[in-house]
Amino acid sequence: MKQIHETGRDIPVFAETDVLVVGGGPSGLAAAIAASRTGAKTLLMERYGCFGGVITQVGVEGFAWYRHEKTIEAGGLVPEFENKFVELAGPNPECQSESQALDAEMFKCVADSMVLEAGVRPLLHSMAVGTIVEGGILKGIIAESKSGRFAILAKRVVDCTGDADIAALAGVPFTMAPKDQLMSVTTLFHCRGVDTNRFREYVLNELKPTYKDWGGYWSITTTGKEDDLFSPYFEKPFVEAVRDGLIPKDENVSLGGTWSSITDNGDVTQLNVVFISNIDCTNVEDLTKAEVTGRRNALYCIEVLRRKVPGFEKAKLRNFGMTMGTRESRKIEGHYCLSQKDVMEEGRFDDAIAIFPEFIDGAGYLIKPTTGRYYQIPYGCILPKKIDNLLVAGRAISGDQIAHVSFRNMACCVATGQGAGIAAAVSIHDQVPVSQVNIKNVQKNLEKQGVRYLT
Ligand SMILES: Cc1cc2nc3c(=O)[nH]c(=O)nc-3n(C[C@H](O)[C@H](O)[C@H](O)COP(=O)(O)OP(=O)(O)OC[C@H]3O[C@@H](n4cnc5c(N)ncnc54)[C@H](O)[C@@H]3O)c2cc1C
Repeated sequence: MKQIHETGRDIPVFAETDVLVVGGGPSGLAAAIAASRTGAKTLLMERYGCFGGVITQVGVEGFAWYRHEKTIEAGGLVPEFENKFVELAGPNPECQSESQALDAEMFKCVADSMVLEAGVRPLLHSMAVGTIVEGGILKGIIAESKSGRFAILAKRVVDCTGDADIAALAGVPFTMAPKDQLMSVTTLFHCRGVDTNRFREYVLNELKPTYKDWGGYWSITTTGKEDDLFSPYFEKPFVEAVRDGLIPKDENVSLGGTWSSITDNGDVTQLNVVFISNIDCTNVEDLTKAEVTGRRNALYCIEVLRRKVPGFEKAKLRNFGMTMGTRESRKIEGHYCLSQKDVMEEGRFDDAIAIFPEFIDGAGYLIKPTTGRYYQIPYGCILPKKIDNLLVAGRAISGDQIAHVSFRNMACCVATGQGAGIAAAVSIHDQVPVSQVNIKNVQKNLEKQGVRYLT
């Protein structure tokens, strides 16, 4: 590609803080709230106009849809997110689990209040585009905004961008699968004008969907105990529509998946049915292609729903998520790489900062945590190689492909975020770099914040 030389310039230092958290999704919210509660002056920076990440920007409501009676999990901010949502918006039970479906619009307000109540300084509409590294230590970041380009200096930075943007810019080694092997991206949409009584009847009496149906058109491994549980899933009408030529065939698009809530005023939400493969979400041309392809296919799906699914005859598009959703991109190389074995065989670690139930939903597996099995997540997974005073939380932590399919789930991102925020604050308090933080002190603070990390 042709290059031009960008002239160097002086830029203002917008803020100096103890802990800077970049990215305000599930992991970033948790990291910022936890760091502030541990006593650190904390700033949470986000590129869009709301916090919440995939919840509010993509429209994913199923925050803890894995949860069953015997599920064992980390606690801490995970139930706090759900409880605050219920306090502000009222209960909205998720249909296949013992959890709350987090309405995307209301969660924007939930996130605002939790950030402000924790004493975190919020900064929206600011995108991190560069890092300030001196002698292998991260000193801050450079951002672009409507106010122009500026720097934020911080004693510790937590990268919660999902794509490990800060780690990559700072020179942390990372892995990323070739794009034809990355998990698909999705344009999520919500419908209005549905005869929801008719749709409910169809679901309960005719469709009777279970997790077994997930294996209809591709191969999926379960443990067997999942097979007959209810799952809000449909794919047959879409697959038939492609076969019959109602929807143009595209080898990079598969259609069929889940919905979330069916409301009494005619909405069916979180239609997660458009899957686009071969997209690298760190490439702006691929992002553009995915947005356009995703919206076009969502409209095809609505037409299929109108023609084929009882209750949807007069349905219309209510809205798309404000951006398409990424499931997988960069993963940092950390001091420990969480493995499929750790996730499937209840991995145990002395430097654990959280636990997460044995829950895997992707890469050919569907395992639900109905029996109380869980794994620990070690500090080494959030501690990147090569650059100090940086931690990474959320879906970009260090792990193999199958482990990622589990720890990318939002509640696990909250757990690693809470651990990272506490570790950052403890390392400042104890005046040691994050690479030398006393893990016992981190664990004491996890306990204070109600997080379960021990077996
Ligand atoms: C379509 C779809 C459906 C899913 N379904 C479920 C589900 O049902 N249940 C579940 O638990 N998980 C689900 N997931 C996975 C889960 O939502 C994500 O893995 C999780 O949200 C990741 O959390 P995170 O905090 O790491 O990143 P994100 O939620 O992606 O948040 C990252 C935040 O950082 C911001 N950001 C990014 N780059 C920058 C930058 N350079 N500067 C400033 N800000 C930046 C983003 O705007 C965003 O707010 C789904 C994912 C997708 C895409």
